[in-house]
Amino acid sequence: MQVHGSCHCGYVTYSSIAQPENTVVCHCRDCQVMSGGPYRSIVPSSEADFALLSGELTVYSKTGDSGNPRELTFCNRCGSHIYATSKKHSADAAPRSFGLRTGTLDEVAQFVPKFQVWCDSRLPWVHDFDQLPGKPKQ
Ligand SMILES: [Zn+2]
Ligand SMILES: [Zn+2]
Repeated sequence: MQVHGSCHCGYVTYSSIAQPENTVVCHCRDCQVMSGGPYRSIVPSSEADFALLSGELTVYSKTGDSGNPRELTFCNRCGSHIYATSKKHSADAAPRSFGLRTGTLDEVAQFVPKFQVWCDSRLPWVHDFDQLPGKPKQ
């Protein structure tokens, strides 16, 4: 389906194509640190479908828990993470997979996780939220 996303400050906006049934939760240590939360929710999208509609992305390169080089992009004004991808080896290489951060999508409510990865570093209490008392706002 067609999706639209934006960073927190609104400088970066984008559109792409992603399927809700491909949504995963990632428990890797890098996602915990970079999202600032206990896990991150991601949906794959093709580089060929991704259109940056406004703003500029900063690219941070790192070696993933997998050992592979990864490029992470974020808004250079507010720091919201937009996607992660592999390193581009040549200009004519096949389109890469962009792991969109589902929290930036306007359609985030439809992207219900269907799978989880890096469960070795999953925090043991993340499945317990339904048991916690909740408030509608802060
Ligand atoms: Zn921003
Ligand atoms: Zn991760």
